[in-house]
Amino acid sequence: MPAAWPDVSESKMIDGAFLEDPLVTQAWAYVQSVVPKSVLDVPPSQYVSGSTTKYGADAVANCYWPNNLCTRSTDAAYYHADISTCPGDNVWGITYDDGPINNSGTDDTSALLTSLKDANVQATFFCVGSNVVQFPADVKRALDAGHEIASHTWTHHPLTSLTNLQVIAEIKYTEAIIYNATGIVPAMIRPPYGDVDDRVRAIMWALGYRNVLWTTTPDRDTHDADGSEGETASQEIVDLVKNQFFTPQPGFISLEHDISTFTTSVAIKILQAIQAAKASSMLSIDVTAVGKCTNKPVYQNAAPLPSPAAPTTTQASSGPTPPATGGKTINIPDAKAATSSAVGGYGLSVVLVTVCGVVAAVLGYVN
Ligand SMILES: [Zn+2]
Repeated sequence: MPAAWPDVSESKMIDGAFLEDPLVTQAWAYVQSVVPKSVLDVPPSQYVSGSTTKYGADAVANCYWPNNLCTRSTDAAYYHADISTCPGDNVWGITYDDGPINNSGTDDTSALLTSLKDANVQATFFCVGSNVVQFPADVKRALDAGHEIASHTWTHHPLTSLTNLQVIAEIKYTEAIIYNATGIVPAMIRPPYGDVDDRVRAIMWALGYRNVLWTTTPDRDTHDADGSEGETASQEIVDLVKNQFFTPQPGFISLEHDISTFTTSVAIKILQAIQAAKASSMLSIDVTAVGKCTNKPVYQNAAPLPSPAAPTTTQASSGPTPPATGGKTINIPDAKAATSSAVGGYGLSVVLVTVCGVVAAVLGYVN
């Protein structure tokens, strides 16, 4: 476990001693060993406010997403291709960003999970670490219900505006708190605001993540978090989704949010519409999670066991051998949740060792 968790305020950048924690420095050493220096030397953009940055490097050469929505469509030596759609036809990858939240009296993410169950829909949650640390039970409940848990950084800051060390800190602290809450290590990450370039892609890749955006052509952002709230705005979003998302079409990935009571209520109304359309056989599209529609890895510690036996304690264990091809070894500092039940049906690939009373999980994974 890191010495401390960063502040829960998204306005406070991860800095100072938080960047000196071995969680970050060890990952930084690994990133430098596999990513070309020329890529890591691409200068950060200048933060302006909100999602706005000034990008001083070559936006085309570095495939800066906010510049004409640039995406990488093929793998390269130091990054994965971006995921921005579900392949095939008539499949909808449904995603919720920025949670979990649980505003007093509204039970937001929890209510959304109930609606997902009612509609028999499995989704992908891109979780913000500073929210996971406050509401870990909601993330565990989502995982246990079969939903996919992915990273959306700790402070929800535009990643291109951060230093390499800060980008790594955003990813690693979020990874550690998700692991602490659930026992899984995500393999998918969505950059806040879609703010990504090849430098950030390379760090994501080195740390075992695929960059997941959403479909922009046609626009499959519901714009639920763009500012307008109230009954009229809510109904307009639900009507737009019913008219544009429910019909036969090429696969896509949508963007919704469990960032506020309003956006969560809109998401629930959309699920109620999905449930009703299913019941009347009026839904022409399969609604599912991103990992399922893309058949890409969802978790870094999801490799199946070579034998039926799974370690069930945090005592020293011989455990399964990490994959020999394409595998890497990372250190997760807290194995509190690393039991067979914690990783459930995703399969356990955890080798647990106890050193000086500190339990460390060594995860073997393929990416
Ligand atoms: Zn977000």
